Amino acid sequence: MPEDVLICPLCGSGRSQFFDRREFRGQVVTNRLCQECGLVYQSPRMTEAESAAFYAEEYRLLYEGSSDPTARNVTVQRARAESLFTFARPVVEKVARHLDIGCSLGILLQRFTETYHCQPAGIEPGGAHRTHARKEGLAVYAALEELEKAGEARFDLVTMSHVLEHLADPVGYLSHLRESILAPDGWLLLEVPNLYAHDSFEVAHLYAFSPHILREVLCRSGFEIIKFEKHGRPNSAIFPLFLTALCRPAVQLDLQPVRPERGAALKRCIGMFRRRILARIFPQRAWLVRE
Ligand SMILES: [Zn+2]
Repeated sequence: MPEDVLICPLCGSGRSQFFDRREFRGQVVTNRLCQECGLVYQSPRMTEAESAAFYAEEYRLLYEGSSDPTARNVTVQRARAESLFTFARPVVEKVARHLDIGCSLGILLQRFTETYHCQPAGIEPGGAHRTHARKEGLAVYAALEELEKAGEARFDLVTMSHVLEHLADPVGYLSHLRESILAPDGWLLLEVPNLYAHDSFEVAHLYAFSPHILREVLCRSGFEIIKFEKHGRPNSAIFPLFLTALCRPAVQLDLQPVRPERGAALKRCIGMFRRRILARIFPQRAWLVRE
């Protein structure tokens, strides 16, 4: 049975209000807004055990119509990998060891290896995709704990493309990465859907991050943001569907309380309204690849 989230996973407040409810592929998805910090999170949501079973078996079937890799999925992953690579390349000079969390078929790992000649490793909970990536000769683990047990050395680049919004405890997870997985002078590159432009409310998305809240999450996890962008690549030339951040471990932890987001509901309304208007004015540029 799904469980309610009683305490805000970012600021710890117990005060929340209804934000959104909709049906997503046969399941009712409810999101709440923290009245203290403005984080939007799914509640009720899957328990940890339900979530593990979901990612091992159902997730790809529900999202892509097949547990096996699809051609469409490969095309989207290639385009996303190119976009992330292009974003990081001007800033990241060298990479010796690259870990991609949620690596799927390993396409992002291969794109970075091509240029940086780094040693790749991945984490992928989906069985069919993991097997496929392993066949490509990649070291792919089912979970982070498995990688840690294998005694892998630290990585100087960790990427998470469309992963953070699926995790139960983003700040706890990112803090752990910084403390135990990432090299002290390493890079974290991540991308999530933007609450103010992307539909966002899917059953697997436990969070919907606004640009400000994503910055706060990274900051509370001990990261300094070096580069940040709102963009639509590869799906749209005009909608800021995604948020991409390139970060390094901060020299000093920011222990200030979370700086709250204000007016999240209104900003969401304006963002989605703007999207509808722009889609009418520039139909060709609106959707290059439909999600
Ligand atoms: Zn909060």
